[in-house]
Amino acid sequence: MGQTIACANQKGGVGKTTTVVNLATALALTGQRVLVVDLDPQGNATSGFGIDRSRLDGSLYEVLLEERGLDSVIIATDVDGCAIAPASVALAGAEIELATAPQRERRVKRALAGVTDRFDYLLIDCPPSLGLLTVNALTAATSVLIPTQCEYYALEGLSQLIATLNLVRDNLNPTLAIKGVVLTMFDARTNLSSDVASEVRGHFGHAVFDTMIPRSVRLSEAPSFGLPIALYRADSRGAEAYTALAAELLRRDSREPVKPGTPETTPATDTAAIRAPWQAAAVTAQTPATEPAAIGARS
Ligand code: ADP
Ligand code: MG
Repeated sequence: MGQTIACANQKGGVGKTTTVVNLATALALTGQRVLVVDLDPQGNATSGFGIDRSRLDGSLYEVLLEERGLDSVIIATDVDGCAIAPASVALAGAEIELATAPQRERRVKRALAGVTDRFDYLLIDCPPSLGLLTVNALTAATSVLIPTQCEYYALEGLSQLIATLNLVRDNLNPTLAIKGVVLTMFDARTNLSSDVASEVRGHFGHAVFDTMIPRSVRLSEAPSFGLPIALYRADSRGAEAYTALAAELLRRDSREPVKPGTPETTPATDTAAIRAPWQAAAVTAQTPATEPAAIGARS
């Protein structure tokens, strides 16, 4: 069974969607079978893969509110091994319509249940809020990945997010783990980026991925071409960073990359890392800050 990772941070513009699109692509390029679940009504992950949202046959809206099977809305992307359950504009109404629906926090979980065995990773792109759609994602997820922008108020929103995670654990999903914090838009030329990175590492210890995503014009351009960075500019620093992030994730999960060409192979140690020390317990960990990782350091 695949693991479901919710990419969440109630702040907008911190790199959630960029991380989902490009991490999913990088994982698929190592041979993992990946499903992107676009749970943000803005649909940036959907358009980031070059999918025209006005021509969708169905989206998560119909799945969550009209009992349509998830299978019937999943479509392929240009990336081999990476499919997407897209978001349509209609999803904007879901937050309100779900509010009075039965099992309103468990709709995504129920929808994913039928497909998790066909994927190694299911990455959910969450909207920039802690509303019902994000709570649905956290209820469905094995773990949560938290992109954090290297800027001054980075830590402020995180305590609120952690409080929400704890509420979800207490009430809806007791085994929800922290997959990790990903530092995004790191700019090695500024002291601020390094200071914020050290501070976040000081707070979250090993929960923070060594790989940092540099600020990169190429990464911000790629969505306007409807392409993940690996297909837009494979030799860019941004592409390298997401490749490194995927490799680090696989290492933490003790999965070796599957050789391209053998995507069916599913390594056995599926969710072994869920209880790894950098996860659930790391929320309150106060381990010392580590050195900035290679990618940020050399950019
Ligand atoms: P979120 O999904 O959290 O709202 P996005 O991934 O959409 O954030 O990123 C917000 C904006 O910043 C987008 O325009 C995106 O292209 C840009 N962006 C994201 N990551 C980077 C990066 N590492 N370098 C430069 N621009 C980035
Ligand atoms: Mg987004």
